[in-house]
Amino acid sequence: MIVYNTLTKKKEKFKTIEENKVSMYVCGPTVYNFIHIGNARTYIVFDAVRRYFKHKGYDVTYVQNYTDIDDRIIQRANEENITSLAFADRYIMEFEKDIEALNILAADFYPRVTSEISGIVEMITTLIEKGFAYEINGSVYFDTSKSPEYGKLSRRDLDSQEAGFRIDIDDEKKHPGDFILWKPKKDGEPYWESPWSEGRPGWHIECSVMAKRYLGENIDIHAGGEDLVFPHHENEIAQSEAANGKPFANYWFHGALLNIDNQKMSKSLGNFFTLRDVGDEFGYDVVRFFILSSHYRSAMNFTRESLAAAGNGLMRIKQCHSNIKYNLENTKNSNITKEELALLEKSDKFHKDFEASMDDDFNTADAISAIFEFVRFINKNMNADSSSGFLEKLCKKLELLSNILGLVISKEESADSKEIEELVAARTQAKKDKNFALADEIREKLTSMGVTVEDTRQGVRWYFNE
Ligand code: AMP
Ligand code: ZN
Repeated sequence: MIVYNTLTKKKEKFKTIEENKVSMYVCGPTVYNFIHIGNARTYIVFDAVRRYFKHKGYDVTYVQNYTDIDDRIIQRANEENITSLAFADRYIMEFEKDIEALNILAADFYPRVTSEISGIVEMITTLIEKGFAYEINGSVYFDTSKSPEYGKLSRRDLDSQEAGFRIDIDDEKKHPGDFILWKPKKDGEPYWESPWSEGRPGWHIECSVMAKRYLGENIDIHAGGEDLVFPHHENEIAQSEAANGKPFANYWFHGALLNIDNQKMSKSLGNFFTLRDVGDEFGYDVVRFFILSSHYRSAMNFTRESLAAAGNGLMRIKQCHSNIKYNLENTKNSNITKEELALLEKSDKFHKDFEASMDDDFNTADAISAIFEFVRFINKNMNADSSSGFLEKLCKKLELLSNILGLVISKEESADSKEIEELVAARTQAKKDKNFALADEIREKLTSMGVTVEDTRQGVRWYFNE
């Protein structure tokens, strides 16, 4: 397998620390709201990555944190007159619902900042002892000047970087690029005891501490959206490598952002969509399919049209699956013929193409194209007389490839196909009633929806046109 590593800016051969094991840390949400579809992209993408590792036989340990204390959480909890903890709990529960709806596998560990304070205090203490951090007025800062490799992930050097920082006269930091590890409480804020002040941790330190506790000092993969490269991940590397004296993550994976109508998603532009909005309207399975139809490092644009198109694409796969099932139930032939064996051999190509795409830095876009090619092949070569052995093999293969990407292809809950089923049934009834004008009218309507209806010996069958 070849994977792109942000640290080296190159595609590299993937090699794990321990044989057949992958340790993977993905930065999780700050739980002050429902997640938006941009966040969903990141979690869907790394779920597909994880599933593919599992498919390749790796034992994956997957950790994702919850940032359950931050300014926004405190402010909104105060507005509602509840504790930050209760407020964060609510959005963790909502996040779990979203994750399940998207068919994202649960992480092995979901550490929360507020449950990890002692480990955080411990790491900050180590950083001070080793001379990488300093305390001023109850605050503790990481001293970037002590970290010669600082900037290696985002490829910035400290000098040019410092010019970019806002110089604040009152700033108590030694260098503008230094960042906070511990901050003293302000009035009315929740706090924890520490050797420096009653206060709470800065944002970056949590991930260094949690990755170490649940995965170790040197891990295989650290991932997140590309907006996290600087400063969050740069700071994580500086902290972890200073505290542990070893390289932190061997591979850094970053997903490109999702834009809305070619603009950055933001509340002030009014182009902000929660996953709930989009999932409820288009289907969560369609959102997942849409996201995976682009390569994870390509910028991606959300429009209603592209979501609708993704819905049609997914429906073609679902319809093919349902047609196989239909034929399986109705076929009278069980023995695979010679021709069918030859066809099955030919169809191995699609599986190989799929794996080759995924082996090349998780190219889910090309992997989905391979599934479409396979669907075309099935639609062309399957008929009402196909043997059950042949159909079963096609069915298993289609399910396998879809499963690797976490795509749900059983058709039950699909509204679109329900409407088609109803029209097909109405047409059958019209024919029975010898109302051929109506039957033709319905067929035309189905044709306009891109659906072909066929009358076979076993009954009526329909499929989406290619
Ligand atoms: P946050 O809650 O803002 O810390 O974000 C949680 C995760 O979503 C992080 O991995 C971010 O990099 C990612 N993320 C935020 N905005 C977007 C976006 N527009 N597209 C893709 N991923 C995003
Ligand atoms: Zn993080």
